[in-house]
Amino acid sequence: MAYSERHATLPDFSTGALADDAPAAVHEAVSTGSLPDVERITALLESAHARYRDLDTGKVADYIPSLGNADPALFGLSVCGVVGRSTSVGDAAYPFSIQSISKVFVFALVCHALGHSEVSRLVGVNNTGLPFNSVMALELSDGDPRNPLVNAGAMTTTGLVPGTTSDAKWAFIRDGLSRFAGHPLDVDEAVYESEAATNQRNMAIARLLESYGRMQFDPIQTTDVYTKQCSLLVTTADLAVMAATLANGGVNPITGEKVVDASVSRDTLAVMATSGLYEFSGDWLFEVGVPGKSGVSGGIITVAPGKGGLGTFSPRLDAAGNSVRGQRAARYLSHALGLDVFASKAFDPQAG
Ligand code: GLN
Repeated sequence: MAYSERHATLPDFSTGALADDAPAAVHEAVSTGSLPDVERITALLESAHARYRDLDTGKVADYIPSLGNADPALFGLSVCGVVGRSTSVGDAAYPFSIQSISKVFVFALVCHALGHSEVSRLVGVNNTGLPFNSVMALELSDGDPRNPLVNAGAMTTTGLVPGTTSDAKWAFIRDGLSRFAGHPLDVDEAVYESEAATNQRNMAIARLLESYGRMQFDPIQTTDVYTKQCSLLVTTADLAVMAATLANGGVNPITGEKVVDASVSRDTLAVMATSGLYEFSGDWLFEVGVPGKSGVSGGIITVAPGKGGLGTFSPRLDAAGNSVRGQRAARYLSHALGLDVFASKAFDPQAG
């Protein structure tokens, strides 16, 4: 089939009505309510861990060679509430590379620096329906990266990071993600070197973005900074704090530092809701009912706006690259903790 015929049969990817004129919205109504007490959360984390620790479906990612060495038995779960109380079970202190979860926080920092309308225009906020490293997605959209949570959009976003050199951009990213976590984050040098030696596909995507005029910085240096940001080491306890910062209007609940504006937190969660689990983002939202973001080393963050964040880690992945146990645990905990933003009860006029 000729390319033009194939193209003609595909959905219309042109801009939808909401993006025509997209001012930053005023959000008077925010998610309220709170998490149960920490003893109850810990009991539910233990229950989630017991339920899923023997689940051995899925495969450890090995397209980045050093990720293939991960122990598939690892399983950690952490929750941090917006009032700054944290609790964890399992391998919550085990450090692993953050991978694609970094995309969320780099996007938030760039959104804070450039603003709602600019990131919508330059990066996009729509799901591709295709794998995170799809070249075809970029071709089908005439070079529009579509959203910051696939590799094309993530590298576009990294190219937009303030700073005129790759060192300056990297320092900005490392500092910003460390502020989300509440302490300095280090690079896993082995993972960085392993991915840097095998990231030809990402370099090709960055070059393709450049050919479409969508790359604002040198594509190869951008790919390198992106690869480093993916190699930052975190634990599930860190991820829970980072997620809770997004749940808390951009203020880290442990350090009290405002990392990004509340409106930026809100924008970031909206993008996570549409695209956080790639082509399975719809399944995720349907089942879990809150924004999430996965990474190929096996981490997932789940954010309950106004309540708190969940960080999970387990290396076996589904076909889209999302941790199998992490997704199950998030669904169980979302239901048990009452996180789902779509769930409501009818107003009781007697109760007032
Ligand atoms: N560094 C990885 C890559 O670019 C991140 C992918 C992911 O976590 N989904 O392939």
